[in-house]
Amino acid sequence: MRTATRLQAGFMLAILMLSLNVLVPLFGESWIEATHVRYEHEERLLARSEQLLAALTDGETGQRGFVITGRDDFLSPLYLGFSDVDRLLLELGQEAARDAELKQQLDRLQPVIAEQRSYLQGIVDIRRLEGLEAAIAQISAGKGKQLMDTLRGFSGEMQAILNTRLQVLEQRREWQRRVMWGATVAIGLLDLVLIGLLFHFTFRTLKDGRTARLNLRHLSEQLSTGMQRLELRNREISLLSRMAGALHSINSFEECYGIIGRFAGQLFPQNAGGLTLYHPSRDVLESVAHWGEWPPGLDLFEPHACWAIRRGQSHQVRDPDKDLLCPHLHGTSLTEHGYVCVPMMAQGEPLGVLTLGGEMAADLELAEAFAEQVSLGVSNLSLRESLRQQSLVDALTGLHNRRFLDETLRRELLRAARKQVPVAVVLLDVDHFKRFNDTFGHEAGDLVLRHLAMEMKRSVRTSDLACRYGGEEFCLVMPEISREDAIERCESLRLAVSRLQVRYGGQPLGPINISLGLAWFPLDGEQMDALLHAADLALYQAKRGGRNRLCIYRREMDGAEEAPSS
Ligand code: GH3
Ligand code: MG
Ligand code: MG
Repeated sequence: MRTATRLQAGFMLAILMLSLNVLVPLFGESWIEATHVRYEHEERLLARSEQLLAALTDGETGQRGFVITGRDDFLSPLYLGFSDVDRLLLELGQEAARDAELKQQLDRLQPVIAEQRSYLQGIVDIRRLEGLEAAIAQISAGKGKQLMDTLRGFSGEMQAILNTRLQVLEQRREWQRRVMWGATVAIGLLDLVLIGLLFHFTFRTLKDGRTARLNLRHLSEQLSTGMQRLELRNREISLLSRMAGALHSINSFEECYGIIGRFAGQLFPQNAGGLTLYHPSRDVLESVAHWGEWPPGLDLFEPHACWAIRRGQSHQVRDPDKDLLCPHLHGTSLTEHGYVCVPMMAQGEPLGVLTLGGEMAADLELAEAFAEQVSLGVSNLSLRESLRQQSLVDALTGLHNRRFLDETLRRELLRAARKQVPVAVVLLDVDHFKRFNDTFGHEAGDLVLRHLAMEMKRSVRTSDLACRYGGEEFCLVMPEISREDAIERCESLRLAVSRLQVRYGGQPLGPINISLGLAWFPLDGEQMDALLHAADLALYQAKRGGRNRLCIYRREMDGAEEAPSS
C-alpha cells in the first residue's frame, strides 16, 4: 500500500476512533441508566409489597386491641390499615398492568385480603354486639390466623420474586459496568495503537519525502553534471573537428605543429603535453610540439624508450611508484603525478607518440581521439608533401623538374628584382647523348644522366637551383652571383663532367661532354621566358660553335637561326 493511502486510512480510523470515544460512553451511560431505572422500579414494588403486609398486620393488631379493650380508639389502626391496603393495592395494580407475573400474584392476594377484611369486620361486630367472650370464641376458631398466614405466604412469594428480579438487575448492572470498563480500556488501547500508527506513518511519510527530495537533488546534480560533461564533450568534439579542418588545409609542417600545439592547449588545459614524431631516419623520435609546463630536455629519444610505442597501445601511469615508467620521461616532472603516452599510427605504421602529464590525470578517451586526429592530419600532410615532392622532383636524377623550375624561377626573379641583385640562368645539354643510348642502351644513357645530376648537385651552392629541364637538358639558376663567378662555376662544372668516368656493365662509356648557354638577369631578360630563351640561344651557339663549351648570351644571337626546341 502506498504511504499516502496508508495515511488516508489512518486518518479515517482516527475519525472513527474519535466518534467511538464520544459515542461509547454516551450510549453506555444510557444503557446502564435504563437498568438502574428498572432496578429502582423493582425496589419500589418490593417496598410497597412490604408496606402492604405491614398494613395488613396493623389491621389485625387494631382488631385485636378492640376485642381486648372494647375501646373504639383501638379501631383506628384497623381502618387506617384498610385504607393503606387499598391505596397500595391500587398502586400495585397499576404497576401490574405491565407486569404479568406481578398481576398473577395480586390476583391471588386480593380475594384473601377481601376475605380477611370481612373476617376482621365480623369479629369487631361480634365484640360490639355479643361481647368479649363471643369474640374470643370466634378468634379461637383460628380462621384469622389462617388468613393472616396465607397472606404472609403470598406476600413472601411476591417479595421473593421481586428480590430475585433485583438480584438479576444488580448482576446486570455489574456486568454492564464491566463491559463499559472493558470498552473504555479497549478504546483507550486502540487510541494508543492508532496514534502510534499515525505517528509511524507520518514520520515515515516525512522521511520518504526527505529521501525523495534528496534523491531528486541527487538526480538534479547528476543531470547538471551530465549536462556539463556533455557541454565539455561538445566543446571537445568541436575543437577536434576544427583542428581536423585546419590540419586538412595547411601546407607546411611548422604550421601543422603550431596548430596542434594551439588546439592541444585548449583541449588539455590542465595538462602539460608534447607531441613527438619519428624522424625520417626512423631510428629516433623528435619533439615537434609541446604545451603547458613541458619539461626541457625531451627533444629526442629512441623508440624503445617509450612503452606506448613498444606495445603499440596507450600506456597510462596512475601511480608513479608502482606503474612502469617510460625511460624517455625518467627524472622529469611529468612522472610526478602520473602521465599517459598514446601511440600515433598511420596506415598501420607508427608515427609518433602523444604524451600528457600534470596533476590532473588526462582524459584517456579524449587523448586517444586527439592522437587519432593528429595522426590523420600529420600523415595526410606527409602524403601531400610527398606527392608534391614527387610532382616537383625528377624521379631519374633526383633533381627538381621543370615544373618546380617554373614555380621557383618566377619567384626568384621577383625577389632579385626587389633586392636588385643579379641572377645567372644556365641551360646545359649533353653532347651527342643519343650515342650513349644507341651504343650502350637506354639504361646506360640513364646512368649518364644520373652521374651528371650528381655532379651538378656537388658543384652548386645550396642557394642555387639545379633542375632537369627535359631529356638530357638541364638548367642551373644561381642567384646573387657575379658574372665572373657564374662563368667560373659553369666552366668548372663542364670540366668536372668531362672528367667523369662512367662504366656500365663493366664497360667504360667514354667521356661525357656538355654544352652550356648562360643568360643574365636583368640584362638579358626581366621575365623568366625571355631569360630561358636567351640561355637557349646561347646554348644553341655553344652547340654550333663545336660543343663542349660555354656560350654567354649576346643580343646579336636574337636574329640568328632558331635554336633547336628544348
Ligand atoms: P646534341 O649533341 O646535338 O645534343 O645531340 P644529341 O644526341 O645529344 O641530341 P638529340 O636531341 O639528337 O638526342 C637526344 C636523345 O636523348 C634523344 C632521346 O631518345 C634521348 N633521351 C631523352 N631522354 C632520355 C632519358 O631519360 N634517358 C635516355 N636514356 N635517353 C633519353
Ligand atoms: Mg638536347
Ligand atoms: Mg644533346
